[in-house]
Amino acid sequence: MVVSDQAPLGERSLDLAWFRRELEQEREFRLEQLISLSYDADGPCSKAHDEVRAALRAGARRALAEIDAAQFRLTRGTFGTCEICGGQIPAHRLTAIPTTRLCLPCERSRVER
Ligand SMILES: [Zn+2]
Repeated sequence: MVVSDQAPLGERSLDLAWFRRELEQEREFRLEQLISLSYDADGPCSKAHDEVRAALRAGARRALAEIDAAQFRLTRGTFGTCEICGGQIPAHRLTAIPTTRLCLPCERSRVER
């Protein structure tokens, strides 16, 4: 896929370089979070504390998986395409949630189901 600076600004032209940077930063943040959660910085842990950390780790791992999937879509050229209806996800939605794989109507219908 050829990305040109002169590409006309239409619905389909997303600033992919920006999303690439954004996802890379988010990925680094999540990796650091995972690493810091693996260390016992505050001494002996209570069971409740362990559970909180386990939940945080699981959340960070899920987020990392979402970031990986989004980076994969960037590579394949399917980034910004809704996985259910195949339509274009609006740029403002992608900017707010770069890892989203669904347009808003599909996301809503999935939650309601
Ligand atoms: Zn859709």
